[in-house]
Amino acid sequence: MYHHVKKLMYTVNIGEPDVRFGNMLLEQFGGANGELVAAMQYTIQGWNCLEDLGRRDLLLDIGTEELSHLEIVGALIRMHLKPMKTNREAAEADPLVSIAGGGGVNLFDSMGNPWTATYLKITGELDVDLRSNIAAEARAKIVYERLIDHTQDAGTIDALQFLMTREITHMKAFSAALESMEKNPFSIGMLKPTPGIVDEYFNGSTGEGNEDDTDMRGPWMTSNGLHLVQPKMDAPGGGLSVQDINGKLPGEDRGRQDDAQKASTSPGREALQYKNSDADENGAGTVKKPAKKLAS
Ligand code: MN
Ligand code: MN
Repeated sequence: MYHHVKKLMYTVNIGEPDVRFGNMLLEQFGGANGELVAAMQYTIQGWNCLEDLGRRDLLLDIGTEELSHLEIVGALIRMHLKPMKTNREAAEADPLVSIAGGGGVNLFDSMGNPWTATYLKITGELDVDLRSNIAAEARAKIVYERLIDHTQDAGTIDALQFLMTREITHMKAFSAALESMEKNPFSIGMLKPTPGIVDEYFNGSTGEGNEDDTDMRGPWMTSNGLHLVQPKMDAPGGGLSVQDINGKLPGEDRGRQDDAQKASTSPGREALQYKNSDADENGAGTVKKPAKKLAS
């Protein structure tokens, strides 16, 4: 359940309203990297996360804080947009907000694009979702930084600095949640990638460009087992084999992904056959067997 407390998480005070800046702030209200995206993405990931109650709690903690951020951004925007209600020139800064919306906040970005659920990155694979969340926090941080660059108002900068800082806090928490899964970072999901092909870096952009760009070399071609190959543009696709699609990644590659305490409604709890593992009644402990065999 949710409960609203009539208090902002961070007190907002501004000097002179700046309607154009208020319009830019909408980017963090109804925009692609905004606070509603963060709130919905983490909260819904959390609701879906039945396989790891610890990280579910993390997702719900941060998702809830993001909703409080949305409230702060909304308050800040309304203060900046206030002149729109009475002043023609101010109203022209954003007719969608001033005429259609009466000068209040609504779920649009700074260009008037409506908010959409397609902004949300929710895969239901916990480590994949945590990576999306780390990237989302990084994007939100950059947007706040750019907003701070475009205002001189001390009270506004103060609130934005708080919000920007919290995104780094969240980034730390999501990073710790991912790292503590102790997964091989290139182990995603259950199926093994095809050997050979997985280590080929295709040199797909060659020649000399008009901006002093040329065929460059870097560690991205030779690290993590990679080596450089010229793409075989006339060769039929070789190497993929049904024999290679033969099952689950080795247990150690999945790190502690299967170890966490499960929700009582988790399908994994039954499928993993706790009675065959050394797990206790609450589902804690190390699961030795895969949930099911894939395409074996
Ligand atoms: Mn936030
Ligand atoms: Mn955040």
